Amino acid sequence: MEFTIGRTVFFLEEGDLTHQETEAIVNAANSRLAGGGGVDGAIHRAGGPVIMEECRRIGGCPTGQAVITTGGKLKARYVIHTVGPIYQGGNRGEAGLLAGAYQESLKLAHKKGIRSVAFPSLSTGAYGYPLEEAARIAVKTVAAYLRENPGFDRVGFVLFGNQAYQTYVQAAVKELTMEKKG
Ligand code: ADP
Repeated sequence: MEFTIGRTVFFLEEGDLTHQETEAIVNAANSRLAGGGGVDGAIHRAGGPVIMEECRRIGGCPTGQAVITTGGKLKARYVIHTVGPIYQGGNRGEAGLLAGAYQESLKLAHKKGIRSVAFPSLSTGAYGYPLEEAARIAVKTVAAYLRENPGFDRVGFVLFGNQAYQTYVQAAVKELTMEKKG
């Protein structure tokens, strides 16, 4: 599914992020940049050891921030590694940290002159963020950033599985339709 936000195509796809041909894909990393399961493991497997070598040199990334490496053998030229919050009930600043992870990733992409970016659903796997709430924050934050910052051609989400895809579609329809009316 696609929407237009300013001059940017905002897309939602179901699939595997590691196959994306956007200039950058975003990794749901941990703060030590140590690799792990989920999308992080898939990116390192597909991209090869160069990505981990660069991560080691960078050393780490605080929650809500982002760093960048090359994409190794991936089709994407860059991987932006961001760290979403571990969900601990919702009263530990999780929403702000999750929004921050999306904003900082886009800010870094913008600084590097990257014009297309694909995100996974940050924090909704091992980090336990409830999917509907995370989808709402993700869509709202990325859409707001794109409205304020032209210069991207294509930005969106690659969702793993139909449930995640449908949840993001619902969030996008709701957020973007509400925005048009307001
Ligand atoms: P976190 O630790 O931030 O929760 P996870 O990688 O455990 O990160 O999960 C984040 C989301 O990424 C989950 O919704 C999971 O289903 C999804 N995911 C896992 N593998 C892939 C992949 N290859 N492409 C896209 N999304 C993926």
